[in-house]
Amino acid sequence: MSQAKAYSASSATSSLAADTITRREPTERDVQIEILFCGVCHSDLHQVRNEWSGVAPTVYPCVPGHEIIGRVTQVGSAVTNFKPGDLAAVGCLVDSDRNCPNCQDGLEQFCPNMIFTYNAPDKHLGGVTYGGYSDSIVVDEHFVLHVPANLDLAGAAPLLCAGITTYSPLRHWGVTAGKKVGIVGLGGLGHMGVKFAHAMGAHVVVFTTSPSKTEDALRLGADEVVISRNADEMQKHAGSFDFILDAVSADHDINAYINLLTRDGNLTLVGAPEKPLNLSAFGLLFGRRSLSGSLIGGIAETQEMLDFCGEHNITSDVEVIPIQKINEAYERLLKSDVKYRFSIDMASLRSE
Ligand code: NAP
Ligand code: ZN
Repeated sequence: MSQAKAYSASSATSSLAADTITRREPTERDVQIEILFCGVCHSDLHQVRNEWSGVAPTVYPCVPGHEIIGRVTQVGSAVTNFKPGDLAAVGCLVDSDRNCPNCQDGLEQFCPNMIFTYNAPDKHLGGVTYGGYSDSIVVDEHFVLHVPANLDLAGAAPLLCAGITTYSPLRHWGVTAGKKVGIVGLGGLGHMGVKFAHAMGAHVVVFTTSPSKTEDALRLGADEVVISRNADEMQKHAGSFDFILDAVSADHDINAYINLLTRDGNLTLVGAPEKPLNLSAFGLLFGRRSLSGSLIGGIAETQEMLDFCGEHNITSDVEVIPIQKINEAYERLLKSDVKYRFSIDMASLRSE
């Protein structure tokens, strides 16, 4: 076992602060990684503040972070895919049973024995897993990804959650050239959704509550921008979307978006607000529309997404912060004030 520096929260109402945690010695299948950058997902904030207590109650201390990029420092004797010095990435998953039908289909995120990168039972050390707000991590090689060499590392970190969470449903729902696609909420996930839908050739419309984000949305790849609080602007798009991806982190009216779908259109939720959303049946009945959800993506698809980003030179637009600014960053997330993902430079933790 070794000691690692980390930032943790000790309760739902405490700020994150410097801490020391234990990491396991790499077993024969493990890769030990020195963490260089870790993206800041709104899920980190939901989890730290125990906003998902009904589904995934938070165990404290909580070390969040599941958008991890680093360099391999050590590998176990059976590891074949990585060697010391390689770039490596870890997303939201660090284990699954690799046996169930979901794992066999490459959909480890739906495995009943799937283990999240933080706040999930740690079968090696007991307690819960600790995430990427730390200077190192040890992960089974099956859950470690390769990073294309041409990508900026700070901007690549958010691909591991914001990237795959938007890429996967766009692929699953067949987004291609000729489709009209809506992206709701221009935050960390939303801005990646815009980049991917644009790269897939779709006509992309961004729905935002922040008029100040209009120019950025167009620069990121949107063809049109709708200020979602303007009912007239919304009405102009009624019945016209093949697919809408909803990446909003807080309570909002999804019925307004369902009414914008065409016949057989689909709205997929990736946002995970604390409280249940209100759903009117009629929006779905008229037009045989559907509403679904999507959770990150499997390991093979995450590698496919990273390779797609390498080919298209896609990274997240990041504001790089030292870890000492993490509490301020959370407050800014709550004000939709991030362009468009915070990425923690973990060198700042080494100097603590
Ligand atoms: P984020 O960067 O904070 O972005 C959320 C965006 O939602 C904001 O930028 C804002 O966009 C919009 N928004 C916020 N409050 C709103 C409100 N009251 N009404 C309408 N719009 C509002 O968050 P994120 O990291 O992208 O995460 C988004 C959500 O996805 C979170 O709930 C997170 O937990 C969840 N998530 C899910 C998965 C999954 O696997 N399904 C994976 C990762 C994250 P505008 O300023 O453009 O309006
Ligand atoms: Zn995330």
